[in-house]
This record gives sequence, C-alpha cells and structure tokens, in this order.
Amino acid sequence: MIEIKDVRKSFGPLEVLKGIDLTVQKGEVVSVIGGSGSGKSTLLTCINGLEQISHGSILVDGIEVHAKSTDLNKLRRNIGIVFQQFNSFPHLTVLENVTLAPRKVLGMSREQAEEIAVKHLTHVGLAEKLLVYPGRLSGGQQQRMAIARALAMSPAYMLFDEVTSALDPQLVGEVLDTLKLLADEGMTMICVTHEMGFARDVSDRVAFFHQGVMAEIAPSKQFFDAPQHAETQKFLSSVR
Ligand code: ATP
Ligand code: MG
Repeated sequence: MIEIKDVRKSFGPLEVLKGIDLTVQKGEVVSVIGGSGSGKSTLLTCINGLEQISHGSILVDGIEVHAKSTDLNKLRRNIGIVFQQFNSFPHLTVLENVTLAPRKVLGMSREQAEEIAVKHLTHVGLAEKLLVYPGRLSGGQQQRMAIARALAMSPAYMLFDEVTSALDPQLVGEVLDTLKLLADEGMTMICVTHEMGFARDVSDRVAFFHQGVMAEIAPSKQFFDAPQHAETQKFLSSVR
C-alpha cells in the first residue's frame, strides 16, 4: 500500500504540491491526469524518494520514504519507475540492459539474471530482440524494454510517467497493451498519462491534478461519466 498524507512540495518559492492525500491499495491501478505543470511527475519522484517533500508523509508498505533512517536503495528496488524518455544503455544489448541491475544491485549470477530477464522480455514481446542494441529498437520496443528492466527487479509497485508521450502514434498501443497486461496480473500501478482511453478502461481510479492540488479522484467510469469539478470538466473537454 502507498499512503500519501498531506504532502506538500516546494521548489524554492514555488509550491507545486499543495497537500496531496492519496492511498493506493495493493493491486490497484490509479491513473493521474492533469495539465502541464500540475505536479504529476513531482508526485512520482517524491514517492520513490528522488525528491524531498516539504510537509506530510509518504509510506510504502508502512515505511516512511523520507525518514532519515529509511534505506532508499532498498525501498527503490520495490518501486519500479519508467519515464517518458527512453533511458537505456546504448552500448549494452537488450538482455544486458535488463540484467544489469539484478546483477549489480541484487547480486544475482549472470545465469539467474538472464533467466529472469528473458522471462520479462518475452512477456513484453521482445523475445526476438535479446542480443540487439537499443539503438536498433523502435521507440515502442525501447519503452517495453524499459518496462522489462524495471520488472526484472521484482518490484511490488510500478510508477509510469507518460511512457507513451514520446512515441509515434502507431507505437502507443503496443506499450499500453503491456501496461494493461501488468494491470491484469495485479501489479499495483500509478500511471501518469494523457491516454484517456487507457485511464478509463484500465485503471480502477483516476485522479485529476490541477495546480498542485488533487482536485478530483473517482472510480474511472464515474470520473469520465460524471466529472464533478469544473476544472476536470474543462480539462476533459480539451483532450477529448
Ligand atoms: P507535465 O504534464 O508537463 O509533465 P507535470 O504535471 O508532470 O507536468 P511537474 O513536472 O511535476 O508537472 O512540475 C510541477 C511544477 O514544478 C512545474 O511548475 C515545474 O516547473 C516545477 N518543477 C519541477 N521540477 C522542478 C525542479 N527540479 N526545480 C524547480 N522547479 C521544478
Ligand atoms: Mg510530467
């Protein structure tokens, strides 16, 4: 369970999260939508401790992310994060990209790491690309590799930050299908997304961020059928 309690976050004088409360249950998929600069990415980076918070607390399985005593490296192994821009190691093959962290961070043998990597790469549809370098992959394939790489650490949670935004439109579907597969398997996920169809069909709940405030959160069908907040209505009519 991820428990976000009254989280505030400022960059200098700019308060970008203004008291966020959100609890994500095990197995739940929450989509986060909202305008540019509303604080969506900042929230994700606070959850895995990449950013400090100014107020409040974030607990992941009861462990306070920003407590001094928290072992952030250990915590982050449990929280996979995939970003919009593909960040792969260009000089390593797909297989090496995915086995790197399990070997270096978890201390797995090459054999063991490769077995797990092949399992996840097959799962995301890249079984044929094990020995290829990332530069030879399409954007959608690179993004699926990034997802496999995160999964290779066996995280309990996955955070996705607009993982389809940099893709050509015809490649978006294959990545969304991969996310849907994960959701169907019961992965606990927070997905920042501009894909309203995905938010509606795949997530359990949808949260709308507006100027650092979570203006609205509701079960996905209800969220899209009957948005309550004027800003949500405005946002949805602008993206539909
Ligand atoms: P987008 O949809 O464009 O990705 P977002 O909702 O993810 O937007 P954030 O990236 O969380 O928005 O940014 C929220 C605000 O915080 C913005 O005003 C941004 O300029 C500011 N911000 C983000 N990171 C930093 C930083 N490292 N230093 C200073 N300001 C920052
Ligand atoms: Mg963002």
